[in-house]
Amino acid sequence: MAAEVRLVPCLSDNYAVLLRDPASNAVAVVDVPDPDAVIAALETEQWTPTHILVTHKHADHIQGIPAVKQRYGATVIGPRAEADAIPTLDVRVGEPDVVEVGELRAKVFDTPGHTAGHICYWFEKEKLLFSADTLFALGCGRSFERPAPVLWESLLKLRRLPDDTLVYCGHEYTLSNARFSVTVDPKNVALKTRLAEIEKARAANKPTVPSTLGEEKKTNPFLRADDPAIAEAIGMKGADAAAVFTEIRERKNTFRG
Ligand code: ZN
Ligand code: FE
Repeated sequence: MAAEVRLVPCLSDNYAVLLRDPASNAVAVVDVPDPDAVIAALETEQWTPTHILVTHKHADHIQGIPAVKQRYGATVIGPRAEADAIPTLDVRVGEPDVVEVGELRAKVFDTPGHTAGHICYWFEKEKLLFSADTLFALGCGRSFERPAPVLWESLLKLRRLPDDTLVYCGHEYTLSNARFSVTVDPKNVALKTRLAEIEKARAANKPTVPSTLGEEKKTNPFLRADDPAIAEAIGMKGADAAAVFTEIRERKNTFRG
């Protein structure tokens, strides 16, 4: 039986995800921005969480953990490098650890950049990637704690995964990301088509998450900094990918659209 996944909108633009293994009845919650929203979703499904998987230390990803942990007694698994900043952690992990949720297995990737200790979880068999604030639909997180080229290397690690991987990111930022993306990759037809789809989905208040990694590889400029078309479009023809990535990350920081 396939894993069951539920996307849980939290706060103004965060997502938590519920993941259930039907074989064992194990249930993981990936990040807990808002305990009330997560508990309500669990109660609706009548699922009892056995694990909480944490991606990084930011408050909007961890603040609901104590309430969920206290209510259900789930084991909290998260980044070893940020353990001091996540007081509720039971199990500390980092690359190349494997996390088990019942019979489901996730490889842990260290993806420094947004925070120094950010990790992503990849359920290889189920083709699910939990990328939180490292890789967004059509975007990436701000490089708060490591220079942009370090974040670029982290994104390259994720880009190696198969095209049919479903990408669950931590925020609904896709419309703003799409509007920015067309400014740095104006000739990308697949991107324009995707922007139109995203506008339609958001106008109907539908989530744009998950996307597939294949779509991201074709349309997300932050995964395409080594494509000469992007370097040319931003006036950096011949520049290396890390420099192009740094420039588009900086442009996004000040983009209003
Ligand atoms: Zn964050
Ligand atoms: Fe966040």
